[in-house]
Amino acid sequence: MISIHNEPQPTDLGDVRVANRAVVLRHVRLHAPCSRADIAAATGLNKATVSSLVTELLDRRLVRETGLTGNRVGRPATMLVLDGAPYAALGLQVGADDLVVVAVDLGGNRLLTWRRAFPAPTASPAETVRALVTLARRAIGRVTGQGRTVLGLTVGVPGLVDTAGGVPLASGLGWRDVPLAADLRAALRETGFTVAVDTDANLAVLAEQRHGGYAAATDLVHLTGGISVGAGVLAGGRLLRGGRGHAGELGHLCLDPAGPPCPCGRRGCLAASTALPAVVDRLLPDAGRDGPVTDYLPELDRIVASARQGDPAVLAGLAEIGRHLGHGASILANLLNPEAIVVGGHFATLAPWLLPAARIELAARTLAPQAGGCRLEASTLDSAAAALGGAAAALATIEAGRLPTA
Ligand SMILES: [Zn+2]
Repeated sequence: MISIHNEPQPTDLGDVRVANRAVVLRHVRLHAPCSRADIAAATGLNKATVSSLVTELLDRRLVRETGLTGNRVGRPATMLVLDGAPYAALGLQVGADDLVVVAVDLGGNRLLTWRRAFPAPTASPAETVRALVTLARRAIGRVTGQGRTVLGLTVGVPGLVDTAGGVPLASGLGWRDVPLAADLRAALRETGFTVAVDTDANLAVLAEQRHGGYAAATDLVHLTGGISVGAGVLAGGRLLRGGRGHAGELGHLCLDPAGPPCPCGRRGCLAASTALPAVVDRLLPDAGRDGPVTDYLPELDRIVASARQGDPAVLAGLAEIGRHLGHGASILANLLNPEAIVVGGHFATLAPWLLPAARIELAARTLAPQAGGCRLEASTLDSAAAALGGAAAALATIEAGRLPTA
């Protein structure tokens, strides 16, 4: 039996107010400075509603007044801009050889970026959780010491993340069935804010959407480079997650059945030839002589130095890796027709040598002319893209119209 409730419930009225609040906040974020009348005219909300919502947002210091403007027809109006200075959101990421934490305020200003060397691929999940918690606590201490309220914290990991924030598999880290969000919440105890986990690729593309070179794009992919290779996909302006949240595992598409073994147990995956450990193995055969590489930054510097000096073996190796990258990008271009694929991590560092070959491969393997208009570029965000996106994700509840609880 199907029952239909048509009468508006009190919660529905609350939801309308939340939705209207989100509309007002979004307008101020995109069009500040603007007046209450501007907001009403642009959003179609009536003036009394806008006025009441703005009063509430002023009370919570989510927006502030900047004075009057006389540069317009009619009466001078009080202009509004986004404030959010009393609030901070945190993002963390687990990298190949480091952990990063970023804090931003509601206006998107970066309050801190801290990087800590940490060998996550050789550490146990429990050790990684402890290190993440230590780093998070320090960042929480810093921003709360500045009088700010933390709105939320999101951690990006290079692997599969389920809807409960667990990590069923992160082959680059050697993780299987790690209840990461639950472990973090237990270790951080009563935080009073949301603690979430997502893939580093999903968070990185959120950072691109907000801070990157293609911020206005609605169809965009960020391809992570690091211990793993993953695609964060925006399609029609929305993050593509798939049924269980496992979309975007481009790194484990098989490009060559006879290719090298991959940490996932298969053979010839894109990650097996282009992820950071594979790149270091391929270009610096001596790097693993004294045991597994745990600090990738010096190795990456060596590759860049050799490429700059025109070392023919390194240049040929980079071009080959670039062709694999372009092959992977062509799958995205054929399937999704994005405006751009931006590459991060070591792909961005090595972009001058990888992308020329990758672009040729992309165009050759994409059915649509000119690769369907898809540009292949290095990310303009630094290697903290996923952490930055984690902070952006933590702001999303406020931007969706929920008021901070503090
Ligand atoms: Zn694989």
